[in-house]
Amino acid sequence: MRRKRPVPTAFTLIELLVVVAIISILSALAVVNLQHAKERANQARCAANLKAIAYALYAYRLDHNRYPLADGTAGPQESMGQTTPGDGPAANGSWDGVPRVLVRLGYLSSESYLFCPSYREQFQGDRLQRFRYAYNNSALDTGGPIGAPNNVDRDSHDIWYARCLWVPVEYSFNPSAKDVRYPHGEDHDRENALMSNGRVELRNGREDFRRAFGISSP
Ligand SMILES: [Zn+2]
Repeated sequence: MRRKRPVPTAFTLIELLVVVAIISILSALAVVNLQHAKERANQARCAANLKAIAYALYAYRLDHNRYPLADGTAGPQESMGQTTPGDGPAANGSWDGVPRVLVRLGYLSSESYLFCPSYREQFQGDRLQRFRYAYNNSALDTGGPIGAPNNVDRDSHDIWYARCLWVPVEYSFNPSAKDVRYPHGEDHDRENALMSNGRVELRNGREDFRRAFGISSP
């Protein structure tokens, strides 16, 4: 008499491994998509912050007949016009912090507008203060020196007013330095920039640096 093969009632090891492999591939895809969605949301929030800063600057200018000077010292206090090389959020006194006076006088309703959302995720407290939006101290009408040669502020027709790139002073002239931080984009060389005509654009700051200084791409 022929014996019947037993009917399998449980998963074999192979089946289990196949299922585990499929699940891990699907979850990896989901994580990547989630990160992209989060970064796109950060870019949009960042652009909205810079728009708010633009309106605040215009309103300040209506009231005071000029734009405010930048905050030269990174930190929780106002320091309009006090440029301390190496201590500002950006570089060398030409790019310093968006002035806190905009918050104190109510042109911005909250200090959260002063920080790029991508940096808010990475840094807290004192460390975050060094990553305030950079503001072009030598932009027209601030009363600061106009058109210093170390500014990436003239891009064919527009002047850059504010941006979320942070450049330590020691790397001002070396956009390839490792410590230059570009907050947005998959290749991490993108930043939102507020242009003098009020537009906000996602820019490749590294390329703009290279063009401005005549450095060829590697
Ligand atoms: Zn940003």
